[in-house]
Amino acid sequence: MGDVSCKTSFFIEVSTVKVIGKRLKYSSKDDSTQKRRNSTPLNGLNVIDFHAHFPSTNWMNWASSWRRRLAERYGEDSAQILMEQSKRDKEEMRRLWGFAPPESNVCSDDEQAAKWAADLDVKDVDRVNFVTGGGNDNLAKIVRRYPDKFSGFAHHNIFSEDAPLELERAVKKLGLKGYKVIGSSQRRPIDDKSIYPLWEMAEKLGVPVIIHFGVLGGGGGMALDLRNMNPLTLWEVAKMFPRIPFVVPHFGAGYLRELLQLCWSCPNVYMDTSGSNRWMRWMPFEIDLKGIFRRAIETVGPDRVIFGSDSSYFPRGFSLPYLREQLKVCRSIGLEEGSIEKIFCKNAAKLLRVNV
Ligand SMILES: [Zn+2]
Repeated sequence: MGDVSCKTSFFIEVSTVKVIGKRLKYSSKDDSTQKRRNSTPLNGLNVIDFHAHFPSTNWMNWASSWRRRLAERYGEDSAQILMEQSKRDKEEMRRLWGFAPPESNVCSDDEQAAKWAADLDVKDVDRVNFVTGGGNDNLAKIVRRYPDKFSGFAHHNIFSEDAPLELERAVKKLGLKGYKVIGSSQRRPIDDKSIYPLWEMAEKLGVPVIIHFGVLGGGGGMALDLRNMNPLTLWEVAKMFPRIPFVVPHFGAGYLRELLQLCWSCPNVYMDTSGSNRWMRWMPFEIDLKGIFRRAIETVGPDRVIFGSDSSYFPRGFSLPYLREQLKVCRSIGLEEGSIEKIFCKNAAKLLRVNV
């Protein structure tokens, strides 16, 4: 049953590509340039989504392991309440943006990959970088299916003993382009000296590292170590390893001030714009996306701000409303096109070492 509905929705999307006919499949740089000539929905702008999550079937395992970690820490009853709170929180966010709930019958990873590839075509997005995807081997396999459209990051446990070697394998053997860490869900601080060998490896490999600080949106604000809420916890590491491009997503997810200070002090720290940035609601003063972009550009500059969507599941797929909103904001604050191109494509292309 589940399979049938998944396949049906996939075929609908693929046929939409054919019916609309506004975009041809492309795989080379020339084709990519060609498609931009006229009035695509983005007016010729190339777009790379630096931060998305591949909705792997393994996702269910991840969700249950998160629940287990909460249960270990707070007890079964509390974990149950926290998971329900998280569910309500996600529902509220979807209501706010008019997103349909995630499909209940998750397709195979191959089908999900095909849906993602078709979705990028329909929405005129050049490339998506999946920062997670059911483990390094699994994500590498998915990326290899659509190398012109997908790239991916390693996302194994930073505190595992073989983390540096696994990063080396993920980059050199599997072809992943960077490393993703959810700081807020670690039990030890991110500047723990025991993981310096991992940063040494990232520096040696020359890959970017994206670290989530601040509230965990879907988790309703939960974190496992409060020190990892604050991006300034990265200060020593960013100073010690100035060749690693560190990217802090969601404008610091509630820690914008601290992130701006970190960026001021460490020129190797970038910020990504991904998601709905719903954390703004929990600031003790009025703040909006326009103000955030203006502040980021005035202080950090357009070279270190990177567009991301934080998209994952279907039927939503790539979250076009986030892209449209952010683009509108950038244009409304008078950003010149050169800066817009950097934020929505060129900065990511540089870090991922890909052509567009
Ligand atoms: Zn994310």
